[in-house]
Amino acid sequence: MEKLKIAIQKEGRLSEKSLELIQESGIRHNQDSRRKLISIGENFPVEILYLRDDDIPQYVADAVADIGIVGENEVLEKNRNVEIVERLGFARCRLSLAIPQSHEYTGPAYFNGRRIATSYPNILGRYLKNNHLSAEIHEISGSVEIAPGIGLADAIFDIVSTGSTLISNRLKEVEVVAKSEAVVIASPNTSEVKKKILQDLLFRFQAVRKSKNNKYILLNAPNDNLDKIVKLLPGMKSPTVLPLYEKGWSSVHSVVNENEFWDIIGKLKELGAQGILVIPIEKMIV
Ligand code: ATP
Ligand code: MG
Repeated sequence: MEKLKIAIQKEGRLSEKSLELIQESGIRHNQDSRRKLISIGENFPVEILYLRDDDIPQYVADAVADIGIVGENEVLEKNRNVEIVERLGFARCRLSLAIPQSHEYTGPAYFNGRRIATSYPNILGRYLKNNHLSAEIHEISGSVEIAPGIGLADAIFDIVSTGSTLISNRLKEVEVVAKSEAVVIASPNTSEVKKKILQDLLFRFQAVRKSKNNKYILLNAPNDNLDKIVKLLPGMKSPTVLPLYEKGWSSVHSVVNENEFWDIIGKLKELGAQGILVIPIEKMIV
């Protein structure tokens, strides 16, 4: 039986979330897998390969792995023949240019004739070319943020999420060149059997992700405001409304998006809703 080979990061910022997603998708595999190179799904036809994230696009392009979970930044940098088939919403960051705080930023022309340290020479090279800028790219593999402080470069191009690393190195972010999040990449030439396994897997990933963003909500609503309350709670299809034993009241069940949640709760209370319960959802299939 054919198995879908999934490459994930062995150790680092993506590895825990990638494994969590696989596990929450109901795929059991030998647990003590992190020390190994490979683990095998027990109840789903997959093999998990543990690799350095830099290598994942190449392995997928070469069909050593069928799919990979990797930062979009690595996909953009490595520029291999792979397709992004799903966005996963974690490990969000941006690739930005930063300069010393003490310098005045005059726009992209600032970078002309300067030295920029980065681990992403290809993405930076494309940005410079597209903007008709000529700067010297210094490729270094780690601790890019210290380069200006030690006189190795005038500016850096690196991953930024909160910006605290920049601040502690007296740098400021001046241009966001690209945004990134974890994505699933696939080789464009996979067998039909593997395509089917991939579809099943992505379906599970989507169900896990949707459930995380949504909550099940139950509340008691005065019938006089029922229409208004139902309008605030569209639900998956439409909310469930059941009569309460007490006359003039109904129980309303629905699903709310986490991001809209606090906003909705305030409005529901204004409309006289009571006994509001909000419950996590484990899986959600729309
Ligand atoms: P490896 O040893 O596998 O090569 P690495 O050191 O290159 O690992 P990590 O630091 O573990 O990589 O980061 C992996 C990915 O996580 C990055 O490519 C990026 O997509 C994302 N990432 C990195 N830093 C952050 C951050 N501060 N916030 C959010 N996501 C980040
Ligand atoms: Mg890496």
